[in-house]
Amino acid sequence: MKRVLITGAAGFLGSHLCDRFIKEGYHVIGIDNLLTGSMSNIEHLFPLKQFEFYHHDITKFVHVAGPLDYIMHFASPASPIDYLKMPIQTLKVGALGTHNMLGVAKAKGARILVASTSEVYGDPLEHPQSEEYWGNVNPVGPRGVYDEAKRFLEAITMAYHNFHGVETRIVRIFNTYGPRMRVDDGRVLPTFFSQAIRGEGLTVFGDGSQTRSFCYVDDLIEGIYRLLLSDYHLPVNIGNPEEITIKAFGEEIIELVGNPKAHLVYKPLPVDDPKIRQPDISKARSILGWEPQVSRAEGLERTVGYFQEVLREEASLPESA
Ligand code: UDP
Repeated sequence: MKRVLITGAAGFLGSHLCDRFIKEGYHVIGIDNLLTGSMSNIEHLFPLKQFEFYHHDITKFVHVAGPLDYIMHFASPASPIDYLKMPIQTLKVGALGTHNMLGVAKAKGARILVASTSEVYGDPLEHPQSEEYWGNVNPVGPRGVYDEAKRFLEAITMAYHNFHGVETRIVRIFNTYGPRMRVDDGRVLPTFFSQAIRGEGLTVFGDGSQTRSFCYVDDLIEGIYRLLLSDYHLPVNIGNPEEITIKAFGEEIIELVGNPKAHLVYKPLPVDDPKIRQPDISKARSILGWEPQVSRAEGLERTVGYFQEVLREEASLPESA
C-alpha cells in the first residue's frame, strides 16, 4: 500500500485530498495544527485503518515513522482575513514549514507536491496569467505575508529539486470553492452564501468590477492528483478560466439562494486587492490532459446545500455554544 503524508489535512483542500487518496487505496497520514482547519472535515476518516492523524505544527521539527511515497504540502492560512490575522504564522508555515517538509521528502526519498497560489502573480499586469508571468506583488502590503511566503515556497522547492535532486511538483491554485469551506473564512463565496441565506446585504468590496475565476473543488483535486503523478516539475496553474465580476457573482448567488431579503451593499476595497484574475490553463491541458468539468452554475448548485446545512446547525445551537 502506497503511503502519502498530507499537511493541512483538516483544511478545506487538505481534507478533500485525504478523501481522494483514501479512495485510491493509499495509506494516508494527515498532519494539522488546527489553526484554520477543523476536525469535522476529517472525522469521518477516523474509523479507517488506512488513516492516521497527528495534531502537530509543521514549523517545528516533523518526525514521520516508516516509508513515504508522496507528500502533499497544503498547510497554510489561505484566506485574506486569516493571513491578516496571522501574518507571522503564514510566513512561518510557507517558509519553515515548507523547509521541514522538503527535508522529510529528501530523507524518505518521497515525491513532494507543494501548494502555491495565483497570489504569486499579485495584482497582475498580464491577463490571463500564464506560468511564465513573474507577477506584480507588493512585498510590504497586507497580502505580502502570504504572497511572499508562497513565492519563497516555490523558490526553496526548486532549490531542493535542483540541488538535492528531490522529486518536486508545484501547483498554483486559483480561487476554489465547495463543501467544507469555513463559513467565516472571509472569502467572497462563503461570505456571500451566508449573507444571502440569512437575508442580509452581500458585502461587495469596491464597485464589484474586480474579477475572479472560481473552480469547483472536485475539479481542482483531479488536476492536483494528475500533476502529482506527472513527470513535470515546473509550476502548473490549476483553476477554472470562467471569469466573473464580483458584482455579477453576488447577483448569481442571490438568485440561486432565492431569499428575497438578500441584496448587494458596497464596502471599501481592501488594499492591494487584485483587479483581475483568470488562469491560463494551457499547460494543464497539454501536460495533464486536464480541464474543469464542472460549470459555475453546477458547482454553486452542489455547494449551496452545504452552507444551508452549516448555518441551520449554527442557528439551532444555544447562544453560549
Ligand atoms: N470580496 C467582496 N466581499 C467580501 C469578500 C471578498 O467583494 O465579503 C471580494 C474581494 O475584494 C476580492 C474578491 O471578492 O476582490 C475575492 O476575494 P477573496 O477574499 O475570496 O479572495 P482573493 O481572491 O482576493 O484572494
